[in-house]
Amino acid sequence: MEVPPGPRKNARGLKSPMRLYEYEGLDIFEGFGIPVPRRGVADSTEDALLIAGEIGYPVVLKAQVLVGGRGLAGGVKTAETPEELEELSASLLNSEIKGLPVHKLMVCEKADILNELYMGITVDGFSGKPVVVVSTEGGVNIEETARTSPDKITSFYCDPAFGFFPYQARMLLRRLGLSERLLTLFADVLVRLYRVFAQFEALIAEINPLVVLKTGYQGGLLAVDSVIEVDNSALSRIKRPMPELTERIENPLERKGREIGVTYVDLGGDIGIISSGAGLGMATMDIIGERLKPANFLETGGGITEELLYKCMELVMMKSDLRAIIINIYGGINPIHEGARGVVRYIKEHKVKLPIVAKALGNHQEETWEIFRDGGVHVITEAPTEKAVERLYELVGEE
Ligand code: GDP
Ligand code: MN
Repeated sequence: MEVPPGPRKNARGLKSPMRLYEYEGLDIFEGFGIPVPRRGVADSTEDALLIAGEIGYPVVLKAQVLVGGRGLAGGVKTAETPEELEELSASLLNSEIKGLPVHKLMVCEKADILNELYMGITVDGFSGKPVVVVSTEGGVNIEETARTSPDKITSFYCDPAFGFFPYQARMLLRRLGLSERLLTLFADVLVRLYRVFAQFEALIAEINPLVVLKTGYQGGLLAVDSVIEVDNSALSRIKRPMPELTERIENPLERKGREIGVTYVDLGGDIGIISSGAGLGMATMDIIGERLKPANFLETGGGITEELLYKCMELVMMKSDLRAIIINIYGGINPIHEGARGVVRYIKEHKVKLPIVAKALGNHQEETWEIFRDGGVHVITEAPTEKAVERLYELVGEE
């Protein structure tokens, strides 16, 4: 089955934002003359060690995932020695940050930070104009600053046809009460960031934090993080080399899971799992795991509908070498009979021959069983998940 390429459209179906990785953004910044740390990208601990060896310790290790707030989520670590780096890199590369698997690390020189500033440019949803936002309170959530210290943040609406010039940047930054020297440096970076924003037709271009260094480095400021979000539908117009955007799609099955709104984790085995709760899913996985191996973890997270379960079947069936599927759902407020209809509709439409065992309890259970049986599903009416798993063993001949 084909997985549709590209990201999903947003609610209005107009823009389809594509976020770049931090290291891709820093490469772009560098090309526009914005000061950035020395750095490298590693997908193994050996590579991380090599890069750190070239940069010199201490280094900062940063998980490359397309989500903000990595610092607080444990995705940004400092290593003082190769031993420390080895340990941190090995654990980061096997972890998830905010639910996203970490496949790459950026290793960069550790900046000696005096202050953290903020600059960001986005498209104002109301006027459609670029809005430049700057603050002396960088590093933290900018919405938080807007609420707690509105005097430390200020913004400016640009005319995209006119552009954004150094005198405008200086005028804006005067409101922050920076020293003249810092103001000049900040204005220079800000104008360059605007060029990035304009030339990539970005939806967001942000440096948070832009740090003031304790010791001089290319004039004292350094962009230690990047957020660039481009509009997928504008890509064909961009004249600059773009990073390979398809690379960011880690696992097509997991991405499809996100698209349909369920938690899906791709695993190495051959027994498909559909469950209606994380606990139920984990239990199913553990129990079948004694003799069989799960092909996936899938959890609907509530909100069961016929359509959703149809799509869950579609997703689980995308793996070609399944031996069986086990469905473990519970109906509290969830209309599991509707879910069963979705499963059976999929089975009939696709003439699924694979053995499917379902344990479905709760609200509308009798009706659910009837629907499942009509679709050739092996229904388990007892409560313990072990019963369903025993049946599964029988069906796949692993007694
Ligand atoms: P985010 O949490 O995903 O936005 O990741 P950031 O790249 O912004 O890093 C989070 C925080 O880690 C920053 O606000 C800094 O306080 C800290 N940090 C990142 N890089 C460095 C560095 O080179 N040196 C030091 N001292 N701190 C850093
Ligand atoms: Mn940041």
